[in-house]
Amino acid sequence: MKTIKITALLVLLTVILCCGQRAGNNRNNQPKADPTSAENNNQPSETTPPLDSLVDKNYLLGKFEPSAHPLFVKIDPKLTTIPNGYVRKEVHQAFEKMHAAAATEGVELTIVSATRNFNAQKRIWESKWNGTRLSEGINLTTIKDPEERARMILRYSSMPGTSRHHWGTDIDINSVSPAYFKTPAGMKVYNWLSGNAHHYGFCQTYTTKDSLRPTGYEEEPWHWSYTPVSSQLLQQYRKYIRFTDIKGFLGDQTAEPLDVINHYVLGVNPDCK
Ligand SMILES: [Zn+2]
Repeated sequence: MKTIKITALLVLLTVILCCGQRAGNNRNNQPKADPTSAENNNQPSETTPPLDSLVDKNYLLGKFEPSAHPLFVKIDPKLTTIPNGYVRKEVHQAFEKMHAAAATEGVELTIVSATRNFNAQKRIWESKWNGTRLSEGINLTTIKDPEERARMILRYSSMPGTSRHHWGTDIDINSVSPAYFKTPAGMKVYNWLSGNAHHYGFCQTYTTKDSLRPTGYEEEPWHWSYTPVSSQLLQQYRKYIRFTDIKGFLGDQTAEPLDVINHYVLGVNPDCK
């Protein structure tokens, strides 16, 4: 009799734990869209979460300090080469699990770039714009047409205010060099990520450019997004950010003619949306 009671208790406990876990992973549990917020926008809004005090327009544009933001956490030094890297707490938890799983198969995953706010991205963008940093070996001041110069930078770097690295959901893994991912070590890492990253919520954002992803940055085998959070942020970006918000850096006048929102922010692997 006592054994039956204990067995029943164990079954009940298993059901509670199992369903609790599943509910936690269910994207339907995310906050519902505010029906009133649709009025001033043209975009479909039924599934778009509303902006709130922690994730507002400034957040989407990277205009905040990750180290002071309550949703962010400093990356454990054993997971990264960056001295003061930050990501969203959910991303840290998921990456830690993925890192441990990869290690058991002899694959070492290291975060080499994480959250970069507007100012950090502005430093990268403007150094390429004004030629103090070469872009793929080229001094871009030799390109006089502003749109053409911006297009060259946009092969691999985002305009400030349009980068997914602003959100704390996106990380670069092991190297940002295409050459590394052609070495046996790099290919082993990439093959592992391709086969396993989705189990941990990560998706390769910039895949080969083809009919499924006709516009945007060049292929980046190193750049992975934590989609349970980033897919919501992408919806919010689409709904709330306009070209008038993408300002405050050299060459910002090219954002609208190059349609960077449609061609770059939304030019991602459809599986990551
Ligand atoms: Zn990246």
